[in-house]
Amino acid sequence: MSDSPSIFSRIVAREIPADIVFENDEIIAFRDIAPQAPLHLLVVPKTDAYADVTELAAGDPQLLARLVATAKQLAEQHSQGEFRLVFNTGASAGQTIFHVHAHLLGGTLAEGTLA
Ligand code: AMP
Repeated sequence: MSDSPSIFSRIVAREIPADIVFENDEIIAFRDIAPQAPLHLLVVPKTDAYADVTELAAGDPQLLARLVATAKQLAEQHSQGEFRLVFNTGASAGQTIFHVHAHLLGGTLAEGTLA
């Protein structure tokens, strides 16, 4: 990770406001500022140790599993339970924030939506 805190670390620290819908000691979830689906949450490990999902999967697969379980729980609470989980991985794939995060998309998606 870079030396400066990511936007998501600043949300965790309450330095930047966000519409937080879930938080425990290791995961935070909040509404994406530019939603692309009726439900569009970002589900984010609080640690900034992993830039993307491949690093998280290699470094702490159990945390990745808990992130997915949290996404399922949030989709049940905030939508109809079925959902799409998107991890943009790499700048050319659309990743802009290099602090691993899942886009949780629920509801009726626009055709071609990839978050
Ligand atoms: P990605 O492009 O996959 O790295 O996803 C970054 C996402 O973060 C984008 O969908 C942005 O809309 C979202 N985003 C950026 N800043 C904020 C913020 N302050 N609060 C909520 N979502 C944000």
